[in-house]
Amino acid sequence: MAEETIFSKIIRKEIPADILYQDELVTAFRDISPKAPTHILIVPNVLIPTVNEVEAEHEQALGRLFTVARKLAADAGIAEDGYRLIMNCNRHGGQEVYHIHLHLLGGQPLGPLLAH
Ligand code: AMP
Repeated sequence: MAEETIFSKIIRKEIPADILYQDELVTAFRDISPKAPTHILIVPNVLIPTVNEVEAEHEQALGRLFTVARKLAADAGIAEDGYRLIMNCNRHGGQEVYHIHLHLLGGQPLGPLLAH
């Protein structure tokens, strides 16, 4: 069993977070340390530590990450200008929280994908 992270507590509403959306498969909340004017994390409710642990049974929840990203981008008024979706994996990907999450970033030009 993978070890729970703070995101499981947010999903269960045991600790505070600015939750923008929740259903039976996913939860979306504002990143506590935003890197852009809009910075939202969309997470599956089930604990999947990294993309390396993704299985076919997760496909419905992972697909939902994108339909919710689309909705939240529209709600935030950034759909037309555009935005970036990022999912980091493990150390080289810069992953800090081992409960996979899709970053939704926008509200300003985001520059090149990778900073060197
Ligand atoms: P990553 O580096 O892809 O694992 O991203 C982890 C993200 O989680 C970072 O952008 C953090 O700012 C964010 N984060 C960590 N703790 C919290 C929290 N309690 N509430 C909201 N966002 C958080």
